[in-house]
Amino acid sequence: MLKILITDGMEKTSLEELKKMNFHVVEQHYNKEDLMKEIKKFHVLVVRSATKVTRDIIDEATKTNNLKLIVRGGVGLDNIDVEYARLKGITVRNTPNASNTSVAELVIGHILNMARFLHNSNITMRQGEWNKKKYQGVEIEGKTLGIIGFGRIGREVAKKANALGMKIKFYDVVGPIMNNQEYRYCDLDKLLSTSDFISLHVPYNKGERALIGKEEIQKMKDGTYLINCARGGVVDEEALIAALDSGKLAGAAMDVFMEEPTPNNILCNHDKVSVTPHIGASTKEAQRKIGEEINNIILEFWKGRGLNDRIETV
Ligand code: NAD
Repeated sequence: MLKILITDGMEKTSLEELKKMNFHVVEQHYNKEDLMKEIKKFHVLVVRSATKVTRDIIDEATKTNNLKLIVRGGVGLDNIDVEYARLKGITVRNTPNASNTSVAELVIGHILNMARFLHNSNITMRQGEWNKKKYQGVEIEGKTLGIIGFGRIGREVAKKANALGMKIKFYDVVGPIMNNQEYRYCDLDKLLSTSDFISLHVPYNKGERALIGKEEIQKMKDGTYLINCARGGVVDEEALIAALDSGKLAGAAMDVFMEEPTPNNILCNHDKVSVTPHIGASTKEAQRKIGEEINNIILEFWKGRGLNDRIETV
């Protein structure tokens, strides 16, 4: 019987469906030491971002040669040593499409928050303040949104922002993937220096230099708003705080942080920052879609198809 270990939870309906398929399903989060012991018993491991599937865990798993598939419910694979798993003959899959809409909607929410001081008003009105004059914002219609990384989520953000009247520019390492009248491709420097809002939608590999640091911020227009709903390491938080303090940046929105949960209280309490605790994919719909994608991957695996290493994003 196929033995499946789910360590970071899974949407209830999909979990029930998986159990009905007569697989042996264990839903349990283990600390690293216990996971090293338990992993040997399972053929399939389903994780989100909390479980770190490191080289030593993969080594333990290969002692019994049971583990054949790791599924990451979500997009980023930065918590899995994908290369090493592949080397050991373990297939790694993720659920790349499930959260596009949810993340894009969160980005739009953050843009509106910053433009109209919604995050500040929610705090200060609870403290009895009435800052009508202080909170004079800007309209987003007619403003330029620069999108860095024009993949699944970047394009979804473009569609939604465009519907709200924003002008879209984008930059992607692979070049002008989709350059039409509505979405204009430009190089990174041009995007940085001409956008009113900049939203980041690129992957991040541990140890990499932040894509947006002091130098890149210097290239931005004064009063730019920066949004990071991609991965924490993409933005240098120290450089960001300095730019907010100096007035170079008008605001920033962060759903992801260099360390999570973030210990960066200066950033979280900053007047110009709209923060959320990595909730890009935290909607009922995204979780349902993630659950369905996970089940489809496991079924495909069980039926003997798709055993080759297919990683849909890196
Ligand atoms: P994707 O693979 O579809 O798109 C990423 C794009 O970025 C690709 O087109 C790629 O060519 C481009 N790219 C890579 N490196 C680049 C660079 N240095 N400069 C410019 N372009 C670059 O990925 P996606 O599904 O759109 O996800 C984007 C990001 O969102 C990922 O980091 C993912 O982990 C993150 N994400 C966050 C949440 C959340 O909860 N906040 C949820 C889902 C995904």
